Amino acid sequence: MPIKEKNYWLESVTTPAGRFERDLPSNIDVAVIGGGYCGLSAARTLAKRGVSVAVLEAKTFGWGASSRNGGMVLTGMKLPAPTLIRRYGVETVRKMYAASLETIDCVEQIVREEKIDCNFSRCGRLEVACKQAHFDGYEDTAALAKREFHHELRIIPKKELRSEIGSDIYFGGMVDETSAGLNPARYVAGLALAAQRAGARLCDHTRVTSVEPETNNHARKFRVRTSKGALTAREVILASGAYTTEATPALRKKIIPIGSYIIATEVLPADLAHELSPRNRMIYDSKHFLYYYRLTPDNRMLFGGRAAFFPETENTVRQSAEILRQGMVDVYPQLLDTKVEFVWGGTLDFTLDVMPHAGKIDGMYFAAGFAGHGVAAATWFGAKLAGLICGEPNDIPFDGIRFPSAPFGLRSGNTWALPFAGAWYRILDLFT
Ligand SMILES: Cc1cc2nc3c(=O)[nH]c(=O)nc-3n(C[C@H](O)[C@H](O)[C@H](O)COP(=O)(O)OP(=O)(O)OC[C@H]3O[C@@H](n4cnc5c(N)ncnc54)[C@H](O)[C@@H]3O)c2cc1C
Repeated sequence: MPIKEKNYWLESVTTPAGRFERDLPSNIDVAVIGGGYCGLSAARTLAKRGVSVAVLEAKTFGWGASSRNGGMVLTGMKLPAPTLIRRYGVETVRKMYAASLETIDCVEQIVREEKIDCNFSRCGRLEVACKQAHFDGYEDTAALAKREFHHELRIIPKKELRSEIGSDIYFGGMVDETSAGLNPARYVAGLALAAQRAGARLCDHTRVTSVEPETNNHARKFRVRTSKGALTAREVILASGAYTTEATPALRKKIIPIGSYIIATEVLPADLAHELSPRNRMIYDSKHFLYYYRLTPDNRMLFGGRAAFFPETENTVRQSAEILRQGMVDVYPQLLDTKVEFVWGGTLDFTLDVMPHAGKIDGMYFAAGFAGHGVAAATWFGAKLAGLICGEPNDIPFDGIRFPSAPFGLRSGNTWALPFAGAWYRILDLFT
């Protein structure tokens, strides 16, 4: 069977056509731009508190990274804790780390409250060391996590690694039991329906083309123009992630859009699936240019990585299939003759300092920079922004930290320098 160039997760979701708003409201308390985890989570929270809210999504709900990802619900942040502590000080990092643990509880609570059928499971994550030096560093990482953040990470020496993964190429591993896994497309579809049930107005195929401040009877508002007409909003939330457009240029110039690609194999026999991942962990390796992988609920191997650095196009998706298959067989020679049935890509929102950020930009609320941690983080940040609009105190530790712009050549819409960034990470992987 030829490989389907489509997102495997979408096979498991159906959203009836015509389910969402036909017409745009003319006036709303809060307009949310972007219908992924962040925007929908914000809308759900706002609607539950009686705030009128419309989510404006250019395509379909979850069309962006939120339906395309690996479904790994991860603790921690992308950067190692010592780097974070050097940058922000231990007190701030304690708050950031606590927030990163809270993000997973936030997803679990929503899944439970809204009865979202998305295979959520606290299966834990496993980081595997590609070099002895990486494994040697795990001891310090685990000690630091315990001392400063009261968080337990378990070291797995090489001789015990077969209890965690059916591969012999790694130097050991580190397990975090609090991380989880889910079906991302089912989760975002469930979140959309939950927001709608709570009273949020969901407008799909509604591309925002500009947002301008205006004063109306001395009240400051925003005029939001879209492909379906205009509306006036008291507040605006930017939740457009890596797909942020020129409609909101101040945020766009902060985001580095980086492509990531995934393959999924045919369904594996149960004993082979068990051999590859005996504890069904969310797994990723210790490189900068990393691979991440897991079993799907129906026992396919889902294997992802930055096979190309550019955001997804038909070409990059096609080329990625063979690159990733080769990577998968390097990890798991057992899969040499296994068929790859799906390949797809998506775009991650990186920032120059590799941190998530939130706050206000041009008078609008925003959250962005979730990189490979957005399943949990985007959900949590969305709920937090909604809380701010409802008058809650601002306890987001990522608000107020310096937010550098992306260099020219790495920004959305102008990414000619991305291959150089990719090459740089490959060089780092050779020498570190
Ligand atoms: C291949 C891949 C694998 C990943 N794996 C993981 C993982 O395993 N674990 C993890 O935690 N994270 C992972 N991520 C990251 C995670 O998916 C994202 O961080 C998260 O989905 C971001 O959610 P979001 O709501 O901010 O943005 P998105 O889900 O990208 O939603 C943004 C939406 O905004 C819309 N939009 C943009 N501009 C406009 C406009 N002008 N008008 C209207 N709508 C607009 C877009 O159409 C899009 O639907 C992965 C990402 C990719 C691409």
